[in-house]
Amino acid sequence: MKLIRELHESIKEDSKLIIFCDNKILYDQSQNTYTFEIKDLNPINHTGPFLCIASSESYCIYVLEVNKNEPILGLFMDPNSVNFVDLRQILGFLDQSSFLIASRASILSAWALNSKFCSLCGKAYSFNDAEGAFECSCNNAPNYPSISPCIITLIHDDDKILLGRSKFFPPNMYSTLAGFIEAGESAEEALIREVKEEIGITIGENDLKKIGVMKSFQSYKSGIIDNEFHTIFISKLNDDIENLSPQKEEVEALKTVSISLFKKLLENSENNSHFVTSNKEYYVFVLKKIKDFIKKNKT
Ligand SMILES: [Zn+2]
Repeated sequence: MKLIRELHESIKEDSKLIIFCDNKILYDQSQNTYTFEIKDLNPINHTGPFLCIASSESYCIYVLEVNKNEPILGLFMDPNSVNFVDLRQILGFLDQSSFLIASRASILSAWALNSKFCSLCGKAYSFNDAEGAFECSCNNAPNYPSISPCIITLIHDDDKILLGRSKFFPPNMYSTLAGFIEAGESAEEALIREVKEEIGITIGENDLKKIGVMKSFQSYKSGIIDNEFHTIFISKLNDDIENLSPQKEEVEALKTVSISLFKKLLENSENNSHFVTSNKEYYVFVLKKIKDFIKKNKT
């Protein structure tokens, strides 16, 4: 899968669509998927251009923004299981590559929607294919998206890890918290805001420790390199879990697990469905960093 940013006049055959409505993403709970094949949807009566965000040899992925009352569900799609949900509610149980594509779709969709007119002179923007950016004939700088979801793992009482689940997760599944960086925010500011929104507590910027970045780089002809990544942090949680007030829409349940239990759950993740199986390597990395973190903070 190649990550791209292109505008196409029409949607190519055999494509997949990621569909947004009012900042929510169309999600099929029974299939655990947010990409839909054109043939399964009602005919799309939109005119181009269409934003293509990724392509493979056999298909492209487009992002489509629809209106609330648009009948997009095809005849054989079950309206009980296919709904618009807040992307944050499902982020935690997507594997790392789906996580990246879903966040990318959300951010690029908002970027394209907000890039109709030049911010300097007000003329309509045109799209520069080579740059993957909107530009204007005036002197305004091209308008690039900034793509940066982030993840945080909170550690309580030195050796307990905070996990949460949303109502859209399969039974028993938990994950660490995740969110998006809004325009103009640093990763740290975004996490402080997300943690406040999701579980109602304030963490200090000095408590955040960046432990890694997962990247996917994209070069453009101009030599400009787009950093598409998600940043991973850990932080100490100074409140008791009883004092947390999870935002029910996003976090259905919270719990803490000891490092040894976390390890055990992870080792059996193929069978116990406690974590997304394919994210095992990622969690092993986080776990190692947590151990280093605790060791350092004790000395
Ligand atoms: Zn302009």
